[in-house]
Amino acid sequence: MNNKIVYTPGPTDVRENVRLARATKTTNPDIDKDFVNFYKNTCDKIGKIINTKNDIYILSGEGILGLEAACASLTEAGDRVLVIDNGIFGEGFKDFVSMYGGEAVLFSQDYKKDIDIKSLEEFLENDHNFKYATVVHCDTPTGVLNDLSKICPLLKKYGILTVVDSVAAMVGEELKVDEWMIDIVLGGSQKAISAPAGLTIVSISKDAKNIIKNRKSKIIGFYCNLSIWENYYEKKSFPYTMPISDIIGLDKAIDNVLEEGIQSVLARHDKIAYATRNAIKDYGLGLFLENGYSNTVTAVKIPENIGALNLSNYMLENYNTLVATSLSQYKDKLLRIGHMGENARIDKILNILNTIDISLRKMGFNGKYNLVDRFNKYYK
Ligand SMILES: *Cc1c(COP(=O)(O)O)cnc(C)c1O
Repeated sequence: MNNKIVYTPGPTDVRENVRLARATKTTNPDIDKDFVNFYKNTCDKIGKIINTKNDIYILSGEGILGLEAACASLTEAGDRVLVIDNGIFGEGFKDFVSMYGGEAVLFSQDYKKDIDIKSLEEFLENDHNFKYATVVHCDTPTGVLNDLSKICPLLKKYGILTVVDSVAAMVGEELKVDEWMIDIVLGGSQKAISAPAGLTIVSISKDAKNIIKNRKSKIIGFYCNLSIWENYYEKKSFPYTMPISDIIGLDKAIDNVLEEGIQSVLARHDKIAYATRNAIKDYGLGLFLENGYSNTVTAVKIPENIGALNLSNYMLENYNTLVATSLSQYKDKLLRIGHMGENARIDKILNILNTIDISLRKMGFNGKYNLVDRFNKYYK
């Protein structure tokens, strides 16, 4: 199980210093005040990376916990919520909204494109009576990247709070939480941050906190209630025992990002993603998207006579290499190249492109060029 080459859009490769950090001897995170300071310090470092002064919490649970917690904490029965949908995770928010009694109103757009701001503007002119809106930064099954710098301020203009799923973009794509006026941002440890799976990162604005504080009804549930985190630092106490080893690992992964510099990390993603997209096109395969390409993942159309699932099985059986296809309707149609976080390294992308090229040729697809050569042509 542990000797495979894994190249998926999360969980990503975890650096050795992060793996070792998780093995350090730990204290009791409930009662040792040093740990509260350590935790707060990790949160502050994340705040620097995503450009916010808002409170940040690290919750014990994989990315989905954050999506549900945001909806559980904001939604009251009958609330209208705008669900911005141009991908599978985008649409998926409607389930969390309705689970907590809200009325999800979908703004659905072409899954091959990023959200068109003009269309959203027109939609909002006619209907803007929403408590909050949900939007996905990078919708991983297709790799579409939405322009939060335009979407979130536009919603805020109408007094609509924003909940952003940046699980698959945070640290791989720019995120300016304060400047873009984002109320709640969700991240996950296992994507571009390149720590093991198991933690959600939440950044929450004063506006969102006020809305939660002034709810008429109680929040259903405990784990998904964001208000239980209020003033944890002043009180020096957490709502439940923190997974200290996971958090020490996350802290090391964040240090890795800060040491390299977030701008360099973003540039590394950009260079690799750009060269990958162009190499794939020259090679003779199609990209799923028409615009809005995220630098964290590239979705590639696999010809029907080969099939994405056959290709991924072939790579696993013959080259011990685990890659991801996509989800639901795209499961057998798309191969996803997850060049995010520690996967966005030149040695790893060259290796995976080589394996894809060899596998496709053995399966009868004749690429027009050597895929690695083409990548090198565009990699600057
Ligand atoms: C990975 C991911 C999540 C977390 O969910 P899992 O499917 O459980 O991994 C949430 N949102 C997006 C966009 C993701 O890519």
